[in-house]
Amino acid sequence: MEVKLSNGKVIPMEMHKIKIVQQTFLPAIEERIEAIQSAGFNTFLLKSHNLFLDMLTDSGTNAMSDNQQSAMLLSDDAYAGSESFYKLEEAVQDIFGLKYVIPAHQGRACEHLIAKVFVKPGTYVITNYHFTTTKAHIRLCGGEVIELIGDEGRITNSHCPFKGNMDVLELRKTIEKLGKERINSIRMEATTNLIGGQPFSMQNLKEVRKIANEYGIMMVMDCSLISENAYFIKTREPGFEDKTIKEIIREMIEQVDMVYMSARKSAMARGGLIATNHQRIFNEILPNVPVYEGFITYGGMSTKEIESIAVGMYEMVDLNIAGSGAEFIRFFANRLIEYGVPVVTPPGGLGCHIDASKFLPNIPWNEYPAGALAAAVYIISGCRGMERGSLSMDREADGEEEQSDMELLRLAVPRRTFTMSQLEFLADRISWLYNHRDLIQGLKWVEEPPVLRFFIGRLESINRWEYDLLQAFQSDFGAY
Ligand SMILES: *Cc1c(COP(=O)(O)O)cnc(C)c1O
Repeated sequence: MEVKLSNGKVIPMEMHKIKIVQQTFLPAIEERIEAIQSAGFNTFLLKSHNLFLDMLTDSGTNAMSDNQQSAMLLSDDAYAGSESFYKLEEAVQDIFGLKYVIPAHQGRACEHLIAKVFVKPGTYVITNYHFTTTKAHIRLCGGEVIELIGDEGRITNSHCPFKGNMDVLELRKTIEKLGKERINSIRMEATTNLIGGQPFSMQNLKEVRKIANEYGIMMVMDCSLISENAYFIKTREPGFEDKTIKEIIREMIEQVDMVYMSARKSAMARGGLIATNHQRIFNEILPNVPVYEGFITYGGMSTKEIESIAVGMYEMVDLNIAGSGAEFIRFFANRLIEYGVPVVTPPGGLGCHIDASKFLPNIPWNEYPAGALAAAVYIISGCRGMERGSLSMDREADGEEEQSDMELLRLAVPRRTFTMSQLEFLADRISWLYNHRDLIQGLKWVEEPPVLRFFIGRLESINRWEYDLLQAFQSDFGAY
């Protein structure tokens, strides 16, 4: 919920009170330099005790509610036929209106199962935009991904309310060109992650559905961030102002044949699921669950987590919760904009994204400006974000680097987790960094894994630029 102050300023309001806290700690800048060096300038390899605010991801890091926590105590640890699973099934049927529910341990596990069953070598998945793990699973099954995001989606500084929209003219052309037999599915990602948590509109989704129907192509929706997409439809798309988040989610889901989700995001728990109303799809996927995940009533998840997802499904359709992340992100992004820092606009649904190619225009893409910026932000604030640029792309089969459309540093804002003063502090430090951006240089590989290299790869700084940053920081702020 946002409230207007008497001076006209609008601020986000936490619609919860804090009952349990985890102590954080701000290491001195010398310690941060040492930590980032031993992490190979990869923020994934930092340890929690090196961090002040962990903004790497909103995946599994959202604060749970008292109701979620108490449901966990009721979990039924049966290997087969667990009561906890039937509660989840009922929640999915109630919120999504989908009859068949398949549990899997997280979002990528769903992607693995779906790709195994539906992606045949030489076929394509057409999507508004790829997600790292989705693309990896499709490629591992011999398929390829075609992204048909509209032009606005690739422009970081925009006023377009629905940058996650698919280009429907291109969609038709692409199907005609490739032949519908070679397209195994059309995938729409709600609150499109890699372009900055940007939503698609209901209208766009319905246009895509119409074309999919004409050609008889299966439609899949990645629902990991569905409540945020529904919140943006409610607040940005004419005709939806008076609908509830649940009604909007239902209407979205009615457009597709199958959904899957990482429950670690919108649902504020840890796990995943696939759901559909088609018995044929259910029957094809189900036998794979005991092979790769676990029995069909737990799918590799702890039953405690299953209980917390079931409650989280109901919480994520509460307007005050569905919008809470987006409103804090808007506050934080607007603060950075006031300081002149280039961020993705409109502010999105899972974090604030800084445009590293504008922040660091002197660093070439293959020296990873967004990766360097992630390291620099950590050094000057103790807060870690995640590189979402060319470092997050894997090499092509011939070993060539693949350039990302955008070089972004994502600072995730997990739901119900951080306070306004923490975000004020970070915005201030980033504005300082922006004024000292000439001190930052690129990164180069030391150890580069062959697949999803951004997770565990190690790099080093070109010309040891971290020491220049250290000196400037210490002369302005001392150790902190
Ligand atoms: C996080 C995410 C995934 C992967 O989910 P995990 O639970 O992290 O495996 C897939 N798709 C989208 C859109 C996501 O945001």
